[in-house]
Amino acid sequence: MSITLENLTRRYGASHAVDRLSATIPTGCFFTVLGPSGCGKSTLLRMIAGLEPLDEGRIMLEGRAVAGPGLHLPPEARGVGVVFQSYALWPHMDVLGNVAFPIEAAGASRSAARAEAQQHLHSVDLARFADRRPADLSGGQRQRVALARCLAAQARIVLMDEPLANLDPHLRAAMEEEMTAFHARAGATTLFITHDQREAMALSDLVAVMRAGRFEQIATPQDLHDRP
Ligand code: ADP
Ligand code: ADP
Repeated sequence: MSITLENLTRRYGASHAVDRLSATIPTGCFFTVLGPSGCGKSTLLRMIAGLEPLDEGRIMLEGRAVAGPGLHLPPEARGVGVVFQSYALWPHMDVLGNVAFPIEAAGASRSAARAEAQQHLHSVDLARFADRRPADLSGGQRQRVALARCLAAQARIVLMDEPLANLDPHLRAAMEEEMTAFHARAGATTLFITHDQREAMALSDLVAVMRAGRFEQIATPQDLHDRP
């Protein structure tokens, strides 16, 4: 699904976290928002996810308005998968249950859902944690569970807030491969935020350079490389 952002604004007091930001993200694109700490990346992603209100502007997913003047669809009605450090695995379910849930909800039997979920956990190197509760995992491990759940849900839009930031280098390389493979396989429109230029260049179809609540430029990694 495509993502259209029109004139998005979010203020905290007198300061603008996101400032009249507009962009269109094509269906299937791996789109990275690259920028320094505090430039508004997380606020932007939370607005798209439905976790943060808009002060102005409008958000459309595949041509359907989900947020705008007088309109705020809740997160679960937007059809987006999120991989955020702060957000939401189901605390009362074990890790396998969290990943199996969307597969079962889509109509699979309980045993088929759990078998498939186990495969997704394996691909994020968490098979041995299947019967733990989210509260018993580290932040990085929880993010990997959230990524496995996006794989399981076959989300058409995936939002990722620095999903690799807490990982050790070996696991980070493995996860980058996994994310690239997932994106190629599922074709989900992926919005990925990072402050790491190397990561942005390695993973993206398009990179938006963000500063002070706005996109300064949007370019392919090749173009950024040639004309930094
Ligand atoms: P980034 O993700 O790029 O680090 P954020 O979106 O977290 O940036 O923050 C953008 C700006 O908005 C920062 O100046 C931050 O301090 C401010 N900000 C974010 N959330 C809040 C909040 N809940 N209340 C007040 N200021 C906030
Ligand atoms: P992230 O690691 O995702 O960038 P932050 O550490 O920036 O998250 O923010 C974590 C939480 O604190 C968010 O809910 C954000 O809204 C809030 N927050 C961030 N900056 C501020 C601020 N200056 N004042 C109040 N709340 C803030």
